[in-house]
Amino acid sequence: MLFDRKAYKEVYVCREHRHNKNEEGIQCPAQMTLEIKLETPNTKKKDTFLCENPPLKGVVEINAVHNHSTQTTAFLTRLHPSQATKRKFDQLFEDGHGPTSARVACIDMLKVTSEQPAVSIIRGDLVPTMSSVAHSYRRFRTEDIGMHPLSR
Ligand SMILES: [Zn+2]
Repeated sequence: MLFDRKAYKEVYVCREHRHNKNEEGIQCPAQMTLEIKLETPNTKKKDTFLCENPPLKGVVEINAVHNHSTQTTAFLTRLHPSQATKRKFDQLFEDGHGPTSARVACIDMLKVTSEQPAVSIIRGDLVPTMSSVAHSYRRFRTEDIGMHPLSR
């Protein structure tokens, strides 16, 4: 079995990748695979990289070529929020913002801090859609109440 040789494997695909081959779409091949090989006496016998000293356990494969533009509004608005953006929204929620005012505050901050505010505001990784912000807010409320039951 191939998976017996892996301690960890994660495949990150483009937003335009379709899992279902029958689904309409452009089937973008861009993806990144991260893999950590399992180091056992058996795998060390078969894998020359694991025989190195120190053993080379990590594998990173990147296909960075998209079969579509990555600069259109339709693509940029659908980007997932970045970790920095998620932290920014959690901070805004902690400061008492609801989803709508947090999104407005985020846009205001970008207008002041971004060198390209018009482009930044349509990017989903910097300003998530309203439904994405509402989802984050529900998660924040659930975790916040769950973590501090006595302070509420
Ligand atoms: Zn793509």
